[in-house]
Amino acid sequence: MSIAEERIERLHGLARKAAAEGEYERSREYVRLARRIAERNRCGLPRSFQRSTCDTCDVYLRPGRNARVRVHRGRVIVRCDCGETKRYPFD
Ligand SMILES: [Zn+2]
Repeated sequence: MSIAEERIERLHGLARKAAAEGEYERSREYVRLARRIAERNRCGLPRSFQRSTCDTCDVYLRPGRNARVRVHRGRVIVRCDCGETKRYPFD
């Protein structure tokens, strides 16, 4: 794992923790920083990171707190409080 990937992992953990504490703005800062690192190093973001962050407002998603999650026809549908919806296959 590269240094960039390690930093992204660490930021993912920090974003999750901030969101768990209701610090959504702080979680956005961690998510944005991780996105910048991924872009600069062209290493991409892990699937788990992509699925647990909002593409529009960058918040870390906490189902039942700042996001609604449902499953429809084998797909997971996550709606962020900002209105953004993401869908991905259920697995
Ligand atoms: Zn959002």
